[in-house]
Amino acid sequence: MPAIALLPLVAAGWMTLQQPDPPISVLDAAQTAVTEALQAARASQVEVTIFNVNYPETITVYVGRDGSVDDATRKQLERTFKCKRTKRQHAIDRGLLVMLADVAARYPGKTIEYVSAYRAVDPRESRHRQGRAFDFRIPGVPLTELRDYVWTHHSEIGVGWYPQSNFIHMDHRPGDKDYAWTQIGATEHGNPYWATKARRAEPAPERPRRGAGS
Ligand SMILES: [Zn+2]
Repeated sequence: MPAIALLPLVAAGWMTLQQPDPPISVLDAAQTAVTEALQAARASQVEVTIFNVNYPETITVYVGRDGSVDDATRKQLERTFKCKRTKRQHAIDRGLLVMLADVAARYPGKTIEYVSAYRAVDPRESRHRQGRAFDFRIPGVPLTELRDYVWTHHSEIGVGWYPQSNFIHMDHRPGDKDYAWTQIGATEHGNPYWATKARRAEPAPERPRRGAGS
């Protein structure tokens, strides 16, 4: 082949090298992927409005269904959930945040009123002292409904029903058996009828997805 016949091929190759930008279709695909990832991240987050009855103060935060939060939200939650007696703060268990996000998603637009979270002065084995427990109610939702919802939709948990004080205790206890109780006065009644009945009607999931760090 004479050298002159190669010129168009060489020119074509040279022009390809001169084109630094990726083809438009590649950019479009990348843009679409970014947009979809952002949408997915937003969809997996739950708006959680919490009213702290002790101070009082209302905050709205966004918590991932997997219990993930950004740094600012994590700090805000630790501040809001601080011990009401010592004002000390503690890391909040991610599994507890999974439950909190789930409850908020179940009752969208409603405010979660909480009476107790981290308690620095509890005994060491207390889940409140470990930042794994939360005592709350939701105005407009019967306590019994809230109690049964949490009990039947999560595992490795504790759920306490406090009808006299008007709140539900929920905690995340990784590696431990589920435990339910009814608190009347100073007496804790373990494994109450409602817990058996609720799970007979709606078996608990095998293992909900838990984030690391719980
Ligand atoms: Zn409690």
